Amino acid sequence: MLAGPRLTPFRRAFGSCLANRAAHRGGRASSVRGFLALRAPAMAKSKFEYVRSFETDDTCLRNCYIVVRLDGRNFHKFAEQHQFTKPNDERALGLMTRSARSVMEELEDIVIAYGQSDEYSFVFKRSSHWFKRRASKLMTHVASQFSSSYVFYWKDYFGDQELKYPPGFDGRVVLYPSNQNLRDYLSWRQADCHINNLYNTVFWTLVQKGGLTTSQAEERLRGTLAADKNEILFAEFNINYNNEPLLHRKGTALVWKKFDETMMKPVKRASEEQEKEVVVTRSRSRVVALHCDIIGDQFWQEHPEILEGES
Ligand SMILES: [Mg+2]
Repeated sequence: MLAGPRLTPFRRAFGSCLANRAAHRGGRASSVRGFLALRAPAMAKSKFEYVRSFETDDTCLRNCYIVVRLDGRNFHKFAEQHQFTKPNDERALGLMTRSARSVMEELEDIVIAYGQSDEYSFVFKRSSHWFKRRASKLMTHVASQFSSSYVFYWKDYFGDQELKYPPGFDGRVVLYPSNQNLRDYLSWRQADCHINNLYNTVFWTLVQKGGLTTSQAEERLRGTLAADKNEILFAEFNINYNNEPLLHRKGTALVWKKFDETMMKPVKRASEEQEKEVVVTRSRSRVVALHCDIIGDQFWQEHPEILEGES
């Protein structure tokens, strides 16, 4: 029994809290909670109410872009345990982007996402009022939607290969007040992608094709500059780094793209007896994945809808 004359002490206390909240909201008892509350003894306020004052305000400053960045927890081990191919695993990268797409489609106000390796950044539009701009709400919604999607879509990318344990992702929230700051943030992540991918490409080429051990490859690359790494690839392995896949060199930017959807719709006019099929065109948006430079101006000129005007 949920309610009745013999309430447990917990239900008595909890119920009266709910009664207060229900009364506060106008006293509607349409939900299970409301039903519980109506049966509880009426009290002005529960003595436990004060604990609400311990909650801190984490509202994000207005007029700023809100960036939530997720990062795989201990993915070094996760990659080993699931035999990710080195230096890049197409399945793992695909699954990351599938999960990020789910975040963009299910949550509101994300204008661009950028991902590489085991991380993804989600940018909420600067005028967003979603969840009253509360950092913890935004971050936890992004992290949980991403994590559950990663598990949900695992089999689409890894087939029968077993997911051995539940992966986790940490999240952080950072605010960027100007368009330039936001562009610099995204440039920073893409530059990081380039630096890491160049290193990993040379490192694993030295190991897989050059026969070096991992510590020998590490030693070989110590202190080398980008030009040296390009030279090792080209001179010793006939690999032009610039011909490596864009997905690996540039990471993935997810943006909204508008398109017209044409469909047949049955319409019945008053003057006509029967329904008629008519062609209707609706403007819709879908998430598209791009593997291109986002540091230069061209990307931003081609996607003017991402940045909002400075006010
Ligand atoms: Mg990580």
